[in-house]
Amino acid sequence: MALFDKYAPLMGQFESLESTGYNPFNVSFDRVLSPTEGVIAGRRILLLGTNNYLGLTYDPDVIDAAVAATRSLGAGTTGSRVANGSYGGHRQLERHLADFYGRQHCMVFSTGYQANLGILSALAGKDDHLILDADSHASIYDGSRLGHAQVTRFRHNDPDDLDNRLRRLADTPGDKVIVVEGIYSMLGDTAPLREFVEVKRKWGAYLVVDEAHSLGVLGRTGRGLAEAAGVEDEVDFVVGTFSKSLGGIGGFCVSDMDGFDILRVASRPYMFTASLPPAVVAAVTEALNQLRHRPALRQQLMDNARRFHAGLGDLGFHVGPEASPVVSAIMPDPKTAFAFWTRLLEAGLYTNVSLPPATPKGLALLRSSVSAAHSRSQIDHALSLFADTGRELGLIPAEPAIPTW
Ligand code: PMP
Repeated sequence: MALFDKYAPLMGQFESLESTGYNPFNVSFDRVLSPTEGVIAGRRILLLGTNNYLGLTYDPDVIDAAVAATRSLGAGTTGSRVANGSYGGHRQLERHLADFYGRQHCMVFSTGYQANLGILSALAGKDDHLILDADSHASIYDGSRLGHAQVTRFRHNDPDDLDNRLRRLADTPGDKVIVVEGIYSMLGDTAPLREFVEVKRKWGAYLVVDEAHSLGVLGRTGRGLAEAAGVEDEVDFVVGTFSKSLGGIGGFCVSDMDGFDILRVASRPYMFTASLPPAVVAAVTEALNQLRHRPALRQQLMDNARRFHAGLGDLGFHVGPEASPVVSAIMPDPKTAFAFWTRLLEAGLYTNVSLPPATPKGLALLRSSVSAAHSRSQIDHALSLFADTGRELGLIPAEPAIPTW
């Protein structure tokens, strides 16, 4: 038996996608022209699937900060945060994030994925319990396994089910740590945080909220869902990423928990990997500054999100329940999702195909993400391409309903 035989079914699927010439899981961009336009296979493409929520990747000040940091500090740190890889910039970014969240402590990780790995594995050990929303991101599941905690899942966004699970665990020893997300990355729905907080208080559990998709998107100052829901005081740990609204790479956790800094020497995904390069640290620090001082970006983002979400709904697509920058059209099956994605790309529009196990309830999704940088005419153009493709594939009625966008 060959080493990769275990992947035979997956390989079959991958190869059949490759043979079509358009594999959504193997796209490469020749060039990126702006937060909303790129070149794929020599053709100019409108980008509607890049999580670049505030469009800060091409901000001149962000780029200048990255270039200046590279010139003065070099291309990489070549070491871990606990050895030679902590520069003044890492510490400064941690201070800025702690200040933004009004918290005492912050740790910066090299990716958002590692932030979840590092925090969840270190918070909950063998005798503790992690209670996860069933639709949690892979990094939350992987972080749970890394720490050997007992893992319990509750039904997605269901406070009653969470309550039941905690009741059943009430007599077992060990700490109970609930983990939920702000905006869920597949359907763009948000957690019922106020209700979760009541359950958390009732059972004396801790609460971690991953605001990966809601930082810079929700809340009066852009801190995310906990701010929007008015429950920040009840959230013990906020995890987030730099790879979406902040346009870079990296992750963080902020908290007021006494003794938090012990995690710097207890969290393996923090210790045993190299730290972020100076360019990234400087770019993210400047992007955070812009996030804080340009609330109009958030307004623009949500205007675009509402327009696109309502537009797809009016056309007759099945979309997620809430208008958020993540807008997914539910496809009848993976084959149709691939066909839809391919036709959109041929027409000049880039989106994402999302399939199980990454999606909830085994759904096949054509996932879009909207940016503050999209113009109204780009959003409307994308809607017209969705309309044409949806009709060609028989997914929506031939005659449009009266549009509300
Ligand atoms: N948490 C959630 C909810 C995510 O959606 C993602 C990435 N899509 C991550 C964490 C990981 O972040 P990163 O890609 O920045 O490592």
